[in-house]
Amino acid sequence: MSTPRIEVHLSKIRHNAKTVVERLKTRGIGVTGVTKAVCGHPAIAQAMLDGGAVGLAEARLSNVRRLRNAGMTCPITLIRTPTLSQVDQVIQYCEASYNTEILVITALAAAAIRKDCIHGIILMVEMGDLREGIMPKDLGSVAQQVVDMPGVTLKGIGANFACLGGIAPNAADMEALSDLANETEGQCGPFLHTVSGGNSANLPWALGGHPVCRINDLRLGEAILLGVDPVSGDQIGGMYTDAFTLVAEVIETGSKPASHPQSICDPVFKRLHLVPKSGQSTQIILAVGQQDTDILGLSMPPGYRLIGATSDHLVVGTYHSTHSVGSEMKFQMNYSALMNAMSAPDVKTKLLRGSHSRHAHVSQGSGTHLASI
Ligand SMILES: *Cc1c(COP(=O)(O)O)cnc(C)c1O
Repeated sequence: MSTPRIEVHLSKIRHNAKTVVERLKTRGIGVTGVTKAVCGHPAIAQAMLDGGAVGLAEARLSNVRRLRNAGMTCPITLIRTPTLSQVDQVIQYCEASYNTEILVITALAAAAIRKDCIHGIILMVEMGDLREGIMPKDLGSVAQQVVDMPGVTLKGIGANFACLGGIAPNAADMEALSDLANETEGQCGPFLHTVSGGNSANLPWALGGHPVCRINDLRLGEAILLGVDPVSGDQIGGMYTDAFTLVAEVIETGSKPASHPQSICDPVFKRLHLVPKSGQSTQIILAVGQQDTDILGLSMPPGYRLIGATSDHLVVGTYHSTHSVGSEMKFQMNYSALMNAMSAPDVKTKLLRGSHSRHAHVSQGSGTHLASI
């Protein structure tokens, strides 16, 4: 079978989605499945929907097109502000989009009128992450302009946390977003259908027993795909952390002499020379590299250590290898490794459709703190 490849356990993704959907349902919060880390892979998106996600969200139009071309008819929301050059396609492929710029919303409205449809607008509010968002003080006036604009409808508001800033939202943030929803309704009239609290980093809040107020949606990617809380890195209780595995092939084994002191000239790869080479252990070279994944986001199997990597080679060391040339090694990936591998042209995706073992096993972290609900 060709390598490098990503093996995907669809049933584990379905299980993860179902687990988080059921826990959030008791809190009145729906789940929108975010597929950007898997480039809008249709079967993986379908596993999220089968687990109970009410719709999908994507950052890139090319991924939305991939989902639509595969015949997916569910609601898809664009979560990155549309580019002006893509407004016509956004109207064609997406029911709604997150927006922060009135210029873009005006262009979306014009495109919607040309296509004789109505496009949903969710206004992204800046709540401290300092990435995209309308400042809360400006929200009322932007919302009013959307309400008054033909071709678009104000569908809701949302916020995003822990992306650029890395700080998880707390109960006060979520109350502030709820207050903004109430104020916007008071000011402009229409009921806000969606109040989207954020991404996977919101799960500790959402499952922590705080009042959810107006929050009725979370946009979840990493939690469903990797079963971890992105801020702590801990496993979410009852979820699989091994739905994805990177498989690479051994192309050389043997020992190498201890290295001479060497000068490393490329600062990008300098950080990857983690372990001084030892003359004793076996060195294994695999046909996978920085061009295929984020090597630092791979977890080494027990007994193996990362020696280094270049664009096309991964070098690992071990004292007890039974690996021979042509054999395969498996690695778990973090979000960055997964995202890079899924978008790398040389990494194939192999879907495993069989059922998984009945219990999600704890394979990393102690984090069962989210299991209580
Ligand atoms: C990527 C992204 C998400 C999903 O984030 P996860 O951490 O994968 O859950 C949600 N909302 C926006 C705006 C995003 O860019």
